[in-house]
Amino acid sequence: MQTRWDVVVVGGGHAGAEAALAAGRLGRKTLLLTRELSTVGRMSCNPAVGGLAKGQVVREIDALGGAMGLVADRTAIQFKVLNGSRGTAVRGPRCQSDKVLYAAEILRVLRASPNVTLGEGTAAGFFVKDGRLAGLTLEDGSTLSCGAAVVTTGTFLRGLVHVGDTRREAGRWNEPPARALSDALSSLGLRLGRMKTGTPPRVRAGTVDLAKMARAPGDERPVAFSFRSRDEAFPRQRQVDCWLTHTNEAVHDLIRESLPLSPLYSGRIVGRGPRYCPSIEDKVVRFADKPRHQIFVEPEGLSTDWLYLNGLSMSLPERIQESIVRMISGLERAEILRPAYAVEYDIVFPEQLDVSLETRALPGLFLAGQINGTSGYEEAAGQGLVAGTNASRAVTGDAPLRLGRHEAYIGVMLDDLVTLGLDEPYRLLTSRAEHRLLLGADTAYARLTGIALAFGLVTEREADPVLEAEARVARVSRALDAARVRPDRATKERLAGRGVSLTEETSLGGLLRRPGTDLDSIGELCAEMLDAGAARDLEELRPEERDRLVADLRYEGFLARERDAVARVARSSERAFPEGFVFAGLPGLSREAVEKLERHRPRTLGQASRLQGVTPAAVTLLLARLLAARPEAAA
Ligand SMILES: Cc1cc2nc3c(=O)[nH]c(=O)nc-3n(C[C@H](O)[C@H](O)[C@H](O)COP(=O)(O)OP(=O)(O)OC[C@H]3O[C@@H](n4cnc5c(N)ncnc54)[C@H](O)[C@@H]3O)c2cc1C
Repeated sequence: MQTRWDVVVVGGGHAGAEAALAAGRLGRKTLLLTRELSTVGRMSCNPAVGGLAKGQVVREIDALGGAMGLVADRTAIQFKVLNGSRGTAVRGPRCQSDKVLYAAEILRVLRASPNVTLGEGTAAGFFVKDGRLAGLTLEDGSTLSCGAAVVTTGTFLRGLVHVGDTRREAGRWNEPPARALSDALSSLGLRLGRMKTGTPPRVRAGTVDLAKMARAPGDERPVAFSFRSRDEAFPRQRQVDCWLTHTNEAVHDLIRESLPLSPLYSGRIVGRGPRYCPSIEDKVVRFADKPRHQIFVEPEGLSTDWLYLNGLSMSLPERIQESIVRMISGLERAEILRPAYAVEYDIVFPEQLDVSLETRALPGLFLAGQINGTSGYEEAAGQGLVAGTNASRAVTGDAPLRLGRHEAYIGVMLDDLVTLGLDEPYRLLTSRAEHRLLLGADTAYARLTGIALAFGLVTEREADPVLEAEARVARVSRALDAARVRPDRATKERLAGRGVSLTEETSLGGLLRRPGTDLDSIGELCAEMLDAGAARDLEELRPEERDRLVADLRYEGFLARERDAVARVARSSERAFPEGFVFAGLPGLSREAVEKLERHRPRTLGQASRLQGVTPAAVTLLLARLLAARPEAAA
């Protein structure tokens, strides 16, 4: 293996793949170093991509030139938009993936990437020159030198797998942990923590009675994640159903009786688990009054008979797991192919990173994915893309890509991680985004294509069709607003027939702003009133673009107010503290605020304002201080 690289990415999971692809797209000579190439792109847990907030992230990754959305589209066996009947901003595209095909396709995309080389090996440490990362040492004693590195080791750092009271060192089922890297990170002065996550049992399809379960089909009209899927056969795979069953009181009684045998409850697991993806033990304890919990039975792929029992993650002993599974309707004869298990692992507390994902302790060293305390493929992939981009830019001394909270869910996540820190695995939720109205999955390209182009993450050729589609929506919107509809008798009657009442003159856009009116109900009128160009534009809009057009018209007042608010906050919150700014001793700041500010060292006033203990009054004081230091910036 060559020994000098621009960027080395450690780990071939979801963060590592996007990091390497981004660095490769930016023209850096990139090595993706991972323990085993056969595990690249592996879905450690659920066979699914997307969901609420996560689906938005997949679109953002796609807009920034990443692979996750396109690979998900090519390998999905069911598509479903969550919250499909609600406003477009909160809809979450999701798919059920064929795990085998997904991993194979990620590997194929990586292999096809011109600047990316794949190599097997286990990173064990770092070497430093002139205060910067200069390379990596491997477990076999070899070394690699590089301009920058992105470490994405997932759940592998001192990984410990638990099933009941059995535990063994592993990063995932039957995969050895990474032992040396934790010490290497600690010796750089980074503070490490311990977290835990869990996965449910897998059962054999032929031993399950689906007739006793409710069918959970996908959407009749599948919606792709990726813009690029327009140019491909879609959906590419045969589409299948999932199934729904439930736990019951008897199951809950057995879980309650068995709690002393659960390493989570007996104290053998010390790491904190994800509150938003709780184990069944947690659900039974925390929601004691609920008589049943949903279990989605999800196929792991077309060529495998493994079924994933979504909702039944636990770490009880295997024999109890078997009893629990067999007490559930439809699973009475189920054969468990792999028991549920929990894994504990080391993380690096993310407040020690810049929002570019570079560690403050060692310039040139970037971290992304589960190692930063997040959980989920999408969260990992979004971070990987940003870290790969910024590692590449660090090599050439360019300013990093920093996504704002109003620009992307990825921006919300990165800001939360580095500003707030965490004490449990972090998962993206729509409620974490104060500007979620602006961050719908349908607006990802409008928000991010310009940034992707400016940073070289997509080429003009790739961006052009995306920008043209955006422009088409805007043209149709303008044309609809320009077309006047007069309340003459014939028009009133025609519209009444479609359930639309017309009392005064308005525009086609005005009609669409009324709840209950959609493009179908005024379709004939549009065909007659729009000029040929606008009519053609309208016809070419995809269903999702039509929905967005209407939503934009209907909510334009809210959206304008939201954009104003963003601009107002941005004007002051983007003000940066000068290098080495001393918070201690500033008159008027409470001791708690000073302690938080010194510990987290926010880069900007906005980041400072989100720290717990930093009150609005403290923010005003800090702003005054910044303005006093640079009065010319007050404008
Ligand atoms: C048991 C389990 C349960 C989970 N449950 C959930 C859940 O309920 N909900 C959810 O959202 N997410 C869950 N996840 C998390 C999800 O799998 C991860 O969030 C996601 O895969 C993280 O991506 P990543 O790229 O950070 O790490 P991973 O996908 O774990 O990839 C890490 C990669 O690094 C490689 N590697 C590790 N150490 C080294 C080294 N020293 N040198 C070279 N290569 C190395 C590994 O071989 C692997 O390829 C679970 C994961 C596990 C294991």
